[in-house]
This record gives sequence, C-alpha cells and structure tokens, in this order.
Amino acid sequence: MRKHIVAGNWKMNKTFEEAEELIDNLMTALEQTELDKNTLMVVCPPFPYLEMCSEYSEDSYFMPGAQNVSDQESGAYTGEVSAAMLQSLEIAYCIVGHSERRAYYGETDAIVAAKVNQLLAHDIRPIVCCGEVLEEREAGKQLEVVERQIRDGLFHLTAEQMGEVVIAYEPVWAIGTGKTATPEQAQEIHAHIRNLVKKQYGDKVADDLSILYGGSCKPSNAREIFAQPDVDGGLIGGAALKADDFMAIAKAF
Ligand code: PEP
Repeated sequence: MRKHIVAGNWKMNKTFEEAEELIDNLMTALEQTELDKNTLMVVCPPFPYLEMCSEYSEDSYFMPGAQNVSDQESGAYTGEVSAAMLQSLEIAYCIVGHSERRAYYGETDAIVAAKVNQLLAHDIRPIVCCGEVLEEREAGKQLEVVERQIRDGLFHLTAEQMGEVVIAYEPVWAIGTGKTATPEQAQEIHAHIRNLVKKQYGDKVADDLSILYGGSCKPSNAREIFAQPDVDGGLIGGAALKADDFMAIAKAF
C-alpha cells in the first residue's frame, strides 16, 4: 500500500521562537494522538530552522523537509543551499517546483529536473509540485499543463529513481486563496498523473507513487479530498502553521 503523506509547507513564516513553539505543540499532539500507521507527517520549515526541526524529529513521528534546494552541487552560488547540506542535516524530503518558486523565481521544468537530480543524488526524496494557473484551467488546459510539468521535470529518471519521488498536485488558483479544488477535480488530475507514470514506468512504480493534493486544504475539507482513490495525502500551507489544524488534517485518513 502506498504511503499517505501529509506535508506542511511553512513558507516564509515564523520567527525562531515561534517555530520552536509550533514544533513543540506538534510533538505534544503527536504523543497524544495515534496516526494511521500508513500516514507519514513531514514538516518543512524555513532553512534556518531545519537543524532544530531535524533534531526534534529524532524524538517524534514526523520527518524534516526543506522547501527548496539549489540545482548546483556546490561552490560560488551565494545564498543557495545544496542537497549535500540538507543531507548533512538528515533532511528526508524537499519540496521542488512549488508554484511560488515557478512564478516569483523563474523555476522552469528544466531547473526542477536539475534539483530533483541533486536531491536524489543525496538520498533526499523530492516532493515535486505541479498544477495549472486559473487561465489554464479556464481554457481547459489543466491536463496538458500538468503533463508537461511531470514529463519535463521527471521523466528523465530511471524507474528506481522515480520510486523515490512524491508528486504534489497544486492547482495554483487554489493556493492560499481559500478556494479548494472539488474532490472530483483533484481525482481527475491525480488519476491522469498516475496514468502518465504508469505508461512511462509501469504498474508497480505508478501504484506505489504517493500523489498529494495542495491548495487551501484544511480540517473541514481534508477528509473528502483524501477519500479519493488517487489522492494519497496533502501538501499543506496555511493550515500547517497551527498544530491543531495540521494534526486534524493528518488524521483525516
Ligand atoms: C502550498 O503553498 O503548497 C499550499 C497548498 O498552500 P495553502 O494550503 O495555504 O493553500
């Protein structure tokens, strides 16, 4: 059975003290609640808090994740953080190709592919984001857009490498807007993604692939979205900033 994953993307939020408090609250909540055995929680704070998050995770049931990584191995790239650095902090997951990075920092599918390569070379599992903007959805181009992002960002990988990847479908019009995709809209794209992966890599890789939904997912709507057969969890933004909400979403399976 493929893993259910609930990953929290804190984005550029929280001071160090606030971050510690949130992790502390999450750990307390995790001690008091039993998550489904097949559900994995991933916490992706800003870079400066990764070491703290990684240390805390040793005594808890969540895995530390990063929000970004350099597409380069090492060297004169001021301000960048390499996959080797993340690996040295025992970071397990890393988000790649988030729509905010695509829109504000020019992250192309080719850059996504290079970042995925860096992560896999350092034993970090990429959470690769894809999703259409509103105009693309209105033009009926959502399947085509997602297909291009998946093909150009991932299909250079071997089947074994693809087995390490997590995909997050995040319709851009639903991120931080309070507008959620309907469960049927999410299922349609998730099934399409799994089919593409099946055609490229075969049944086993496709069946084992965790495909997360992201976009205004919250405790009140997580259950019906996660109930879809091809939705294997969520990439959570705003609702990951409150321990209670994030836990409620993780319990929605
Ligand atoms: C995200 O940024 O990945 C996200 C899903 O944000 P939100 O949950 O706030 O829509």
